[in-house]
Amino acid sequence: MAISVRASLVIAVVGAACAAPRATAVATPPATVAGAPPRAATTPPLAAPAAATSSPVEVRFLARADRASPWRPIDDPARLAALRAAIDNEPARFALALYAVAWELAPPPAPAPGAPILFIGVEEGGNHAEVGLTMIEGDAPLALPQLPYLRLADDRDTLRGTLLHETGHAVHALLARARADAEPLADGAIAPIPHSTAAVTDRRTALAEGLAISLEAIAAHCGRDPDVRRFYDHASPRHGPTGDKAGEYFFAARDLMTYAQTFARYQAVRDGAFGFEPALRGDYLRVQLDPARDLRTLRDPGSLVASEGFVASVLFQLIAADGCGDDLAALAPRYRALWQALATAETSAGPLDATPLLDVVAARGAPAIAAFLDLSHGATVDADAAAQWAALYDAALTVDVATRKRLMAESEPRRARWLAEAIADPAVLARRLGPVVRVEVAAVRVRLVAFGDAQPLRFDVNAGGAAMLELVPGWDRAAVATILAERRRASFASYADLISRLRAHRVKVTALAPG
Ligand SMILES: [Zn+2]
Repeated sequence: MAISVRASLVIAVVGAACAAPRATAVATPPATVAGAPPRAATTPPLAAPAAATSSPVEVRFLARADRASPWRPIDDPARLAALRAAIDNEPARFALALYAVAWELAPPPAPAPGAPILFIGVEEGGNHAEVGLTMIEGDAPLALPQLPYLRLADDRDTLRGTLLHETGHAVHALLARARADAEPLADGAIAPIPHSTAAVTDRRTALAEGLAISLEAIAAHCGRDPDVRRFYDHASPRHGPTGDKAGEYFFAARDLMTYAQTFARYQAVRDGAFGFEPALRGDYLRVQLDPARDLRTLRDPGSLVASEGFVASVLFQLIAADGCGDDLAALAPRYRALWQALATAETSAGPLDATPLLDVVAARGAPAIAAFLDLSHGATVDADAAAQWAALYDAALTVDVATRKRLMAESEPRRARWLAEAIADPAVLARRLGPVVRVEVAAVRVRLVAFGDAQPLRFDVNAGGAAMLELVPGWDRAAVATILAERRRASFASYADLISRLRAHRVKVTALAPG
């Protein structure tokens, strides 16, 4: 059973989007997504909205005196009018249309209202989605434990792109609602600093974040808003001192300066960059945060499905394959089948249950399988995929045209075979995917100011690539090459299997502990 709504690290970084939704421990039946969904059985104990809206989702704005105080509805007409005007933008309309589809497929149980509603708590620094809202309605407390809601800052950018990303988390929370007998996940959050488009984290964080990131990528790809186009098309480069970070001088570092990874969330996700290993070595933050890739080196299967950026690419390309419509909201109907597949993957047993992304891909059929195989370059289905890719890269690099042409020709029947095999049996997509094997390296501690105290290095040893493994004391490039070769022969089956096989190769294991 795959259940994804869970307690997770909530990350507050000023100016960044975002943090995965925090789930409270709640008991509820699984979301029913096949056939007619159940509706809330009681009349929602909520006052009528202050004004009718053409949006498919009623948006209610909340405020609180401070973080220890309860949320209350904002009822000042001028403030409400300003907030409604602020969300009258293309990405926000897209977000609400997607949320309405998710609500229809998996409405939250009573006491949540029967019609789609999205609460937005407005507060400084807000860039979060959470599950479980407690508020004061009139004079009475109201608890809505199953309801996702957003906490957003009242500024122009947050109420556009960040709102879209966080609504993606709210969508995921609706679709992946936890079961009553939910157990803490053995493969829960692994990375000590988990949230980054470029990072390898864990399979479930990668799915939740990849989903939210993919919406930003679609908005960047298909959005018609002039400001959006100007930014992503890089249409008007600004040279010379500009007095802000919008100047070209800062461009290469701007995603880090805002921490929002806005440009990588489009460019690198669109182009499938995260199917490849990081180009950087030796520094945890650079490995996890910088989108620079080594295009010769494919990611191993465990790394692909734990990569937020890779998951985002898969989901982005499933939607983008049919081109852009007249505006973003027109794309919302395309998401119905994707949301259905996601809800099923997250709440039902499936053939690829350990990796819900693969169940989503399988459910979407041949086009999705083809997209996944291209973006992963066959790494999850074929033991020779990485070597064949590297040979093709080398032939291209050295202008060895004859070899390059031969390798390209040889790749086509191989790719056709992957596709045919995976369509016939989607479990093939996980053929080379091992279990999650957590390790902790207490001697190496990592810290980013915004994430609090330093934490020990942790990763899934079936997911960490060379750049990650080289951070372990005693693992030089030769040792890491041995480990990766051993892993490509067969994924590590357990921590004991890891230790046994590394000792057989005389690789030091003294820095490791089970994670
Ligand atoms: Zn997020």
